[in-house]
Amino acid sequence: MTGRFRWGACSEIGLVRQVNEDSKLTEPPLFAVADGMGGHASGDVASAIAVEVLKAALAKSDSISDAVHNANRAIFQKAAMDPDLTGMGTTLTAMWADDTSAQIAHVGDSRAYLLRDGQLSRLTQDHTVVNRLVQQGRIMPEDADRHPQRSYLERALGVDPEVEVDVHVLDMSPGDRVLLCSDGLFGMIDDDLIQNVLEQESSPQRAAERLCEEAVHAGGNDNVTTVVVDFPNESTASEAMTTRNSAAVAPGRRVDTGPLGSPGSTAPQASAPSPAKPPPPPAMRSSSSSSSHRSGGPGRVVVWVGLLVVVLSAGAYLARMSIKGSWYVGVDGGRVAVFNGVPGSVAGIELGELRNRTELRTDTLPELYQGRLEEGIRANSRKDAGAIVSDLEKLSSAQPAPTPTPPPPGEPPAPALPPVDPPV
Ligand code: MG
Repeated sequence: MTGRFRWGACSEIGLVRQVNEDSKLTEPPLFAVADGMGGHASGDVASAIAVEVLKAALAKSDSISDAVHNANRAIFQKAAMDPDLTGMGTTLTAMWADDTSAQIAHVGDSRAYLLRDGQLSRLTQDHTVVNRLVQQGRIMPEDADRHPQRSYLERALGVDPEVEVDVHVLDMSPGDRVLLCSDGLFGMIDDDLIQNVLEQESSPQRAAERLCEEAVHAGGNDNVTTVVVDFPNESTASEAMTTRNSAAVAPGRRVDTGPLGSPGSTAPQASAPSPAKPPPPPAMRSSSSSSSHRSGGPGRVVVWVGLLVVVLSAGAYLARMSIKGSWYVGVDGGRVAVFNGVPGSVAGIELGELRNRTELRTDTLPELYQGRLEEGIRANSRKDAGAIVSDLEKLSSAQPAPTPTPPPPGEPPAPALPPVDPPV
């Protein structure tokens, strides 16, 4: 194993975000992109932890799968110890390579692409609600990358103590070019332009920079990070660049070599390229691993309104999130309720799950808040959702008691609805 890779990388904050929550790793033979998320700017903490833990795996010769599981636990534990970091998480798409093969480990909606013989193929599957609907045939693939709910993740690092990790092992060919990127790239430009840039720019560093430039030029709505890695071409192998810590990975090392074409793999299943035909996609062995397998009066009203504005603003900060790690306060059966997930639905599938229905009637609240509850008030955590409920209860107690609507003649009053879960 020589690991004579040429590589380039770029990360841009974009034109909208205040913080770059993406992180990247370029420590040949290990490369990665992580896209953090969470309130209070903690997404950058999560993505930084992910790449640091991954980098440490080089020195310890851990498998890439173990490294990703370790990163998940490190982020989860950090968030559990620091309330300011509650709810943080990150995607991670990583490649551990040698001259003839590459291990791809993946959680979330960053991506790995392969450019081989003029054909661009995607090596990872987005762990998003929208992608699941594409798989089910309920959304057209061409609509997925621009779908308004495309960033709702079903899997991310740091949200739960354990996480399922997709691991693929690919046979690589001389001249292959791999792109790792955050969703700030393919959310702004389409795959045709990505392929054009990868084909036009021979320098991997220039290719990585051009891709960032194109995403920013297209609007720069998100942080954008790109890592471009060229596998040794037989004609240029002697001039290649780098191998640091190459001894960390034994030649031909394989991790989690599951069955070909296991569920979750989007990569085509084929064999070696043939020059007489359009280039086939790479051979790939795939698996998903979970570490569980192993390894009072108007004045008071003003005060509470002010508090609610602060809480609502904090909730609005969460523009991108994991569904499992997200919470909101909404309405169920005319009562204020706490939900796990995000408000709304995609193709008829509700994105939030009822966790606690309170006794607080929404018609005891000002109309402004009734409207916000119908839309769903985002919370950073279940604890924050409970705090919002407490604020609403205090606001309700400051309101004149509503006139109860008498039941129709002959019908008993409606019984109180029990909570679904213990109160938050
Ligand atoms: Mg992003």
